[in-house]
Amino acid sequence: MKKLFEIRRGAEPRWVGDGFPVRTLFSHQESGARISPFLMLDYAGPAEFAPSEKPRGVGEHPHRGFETVTIVYQGELEHRDSAGNHGKIGPGDVQWMTAASGLVHEEWHDRDFSRRGGVLELVQLWVNLPAKDKSAAPGYQEIPAARISTVDLDAAGSARVIAGGFRGTEGPARTFTPITLIDLRLGAGSRVEIPSPEGHSAIVMVLKGKATTAGETLGEADTAILDPDGEGVTVEALDDATILFLGGEPIDEPVVAHGPFVMNTEEEIRQAIRDYRDGRMGRLVPPA
Ligand code: MN
Repeated sequence: MKKLFEIRRGAEPRWVGDGFPVRTLFSHQESGARISPFLMLDYAGPAEFAPSEKPRGVGEHPHRGFETVTIVYQGELEHRDSAGNHGKIGPGDVQWMTAASGLVHEEWHDRDFSRRGGVLELVQLWVNLPAKDKSAAPGYQEIPAARISTVDLDAAGSARVIAGGFRGTEGPARTFTPITLIDLRLGAGSRVEIPSPEGHSAIVMVLKGKATTAGETLGEADTAILDPDGEGVTVEALDDATILFLGGEPIDEPVVAHGPFVMNTEEEIRQAIRDYRDGRMGRLVPPA
């Protein structure tokens, strides 16, 4: 069984744009290689938004060198990027955006959701890319809830497999390196064992309820970062719980990050800043 490396609790809320009140549950700045290939996870909400004619969100900004994975629990989002992708995602849907060589995009509350108002709750995970794939063309996978298979855990609850495999079910997301991403709903008192190979990173996050893993109790918005040594993870719910499990093969390369750019060297960061400034990551075209 993997042992605990670190517990993270009490993340301070901050705003991303005017649409996303987030708490950063973990980041590579603090946890380093122990969380590779993951870089960071922001948990937005749950937060109630009053009806508004003007959608809230975050305007045009760039990314290069990694992927952003957005999982919506409540509310609806709209997205548009300079690679020509446009989409809307709602509860249970996942957007897996590969920035790779670079793009600019904007992320808003969906217009109809804004008009109605309501609760927004989502996570955005940043996944690193190996050096050889940082120059790949940008990509975009819109994964509706209907494409994500659910594994029935009997009385224990259920597991939606977004990426990787779990009990013979494969997640629909295509990934550059081996990644497992599972959205778990566990009933109080139930327990699940998640395979996690020796040497792989493993992270357990409780979004709702209470659960134990590696001998520690996690409440809402608490995260357990496990030691890559050892095999397998056990999670036991103390209350009905919504839990996110992340596992992955570490990328053993230097990480040099600057805001929306995650590269391997300082020079690559300087190049990214120049390329964005000079319009080489593209521009958003106004909708027709
Ligand atoms: Mn973004």
